[in-house]
Amino acid sequence: LVSRKKKPENTIVELKGERIGDGKPHLVFGPCAVESYEQVATVANAVRAKGLKLLRGGAFKPRTSPYDFQGLGLEGLKILKRIGDEFDLAVISEIVSPADIEVAVDYLDVIQIGARNMQNFELLKAAGAVNKPILLKRGISATIEEFINAAEYIMAQGNGQIILCERGIRTYERATRNTLDISAVPILKKETHLPVLVDVTHSTGRRDLLLPTAKAALAIGADGVMAEVHPDPAVALSDNAQQMDLKQFDEFMNELRSFAFAR
Ligand code: PEP
Ligand code: MN
Repeated sequence: LVSRKKKPENTIVELKGERIGDGKPHLVFGPCAVESYEQVATVANAVRAKGLKLLRGGAFKPRTSPYDFQGLGLEGLKILKRIGDEFDLAVISEIVSPADIEVAVDYLDVIQIGARNMQNFELLKAAGAVNKPILLKRGISATIEEFINAAEYIMAQGNGQIILCERGIRTYERATRNTLDISAVPILKKETHLPVLVDVTHSTGRRDLLLPTAKAALAIGADGVMAEVHPDPAVALSDNAQQMDLKQFDEFMNELRSFAFAR
């Protein structure tokens, strides 16, 4: 069902007037984790000031260590819903449990399925059963074929509103947190009709690589870029090495816009 052979034209996921998959670049920003209303509102304000409409933030955080901040859970979803309403933004957040998918529908504009859950088939089926766009991230060690099959699981249940997200894969290379598989973008665009985003934050794990990888993503045909922005990354409860502060976000946007919209 996700194959371009079955459906030659691009699937477009429409969110607050942004049509992801229309051939133009769409940008998604927000903090790694929802920490408080004020924290998310500060980022939401910066996002709106740039004329952007898409905001992401984690409420259920799948952390590598059980002792790390696990997110605010439902409270985080409530904060996102309020921010979405007040700032007129589409809000995106990860759901980690099939039982929470139905609940999430009331709070979110897009349900994210994270890398660690790309092959959580019950979660994929639950996501396929709701009428809500799904942002599906590539598994940490997933092949492109496995990634496409995960999307197929969702679509097989009837939900065709899927955005794919390349977020880097595990290789022997340690200079970056993961290895951004940039060639996955044109392969996914060729093999499927779904929009493809590139998450430059989790693929690189390095603030200094966000801009060059974002440019590469758009140059190679991605439908957009996702990156993390936090009012004060130094005190962030997660991913403090790679989130941009507001000044860096401003510079990133100016540079990316002059690059991407010039072509
Ligand atoms: C995220 O986007 O918040 C996240 C945890 O990323 P990933 O699932 O790609 O590791
Ligand atoms: Mn993060």
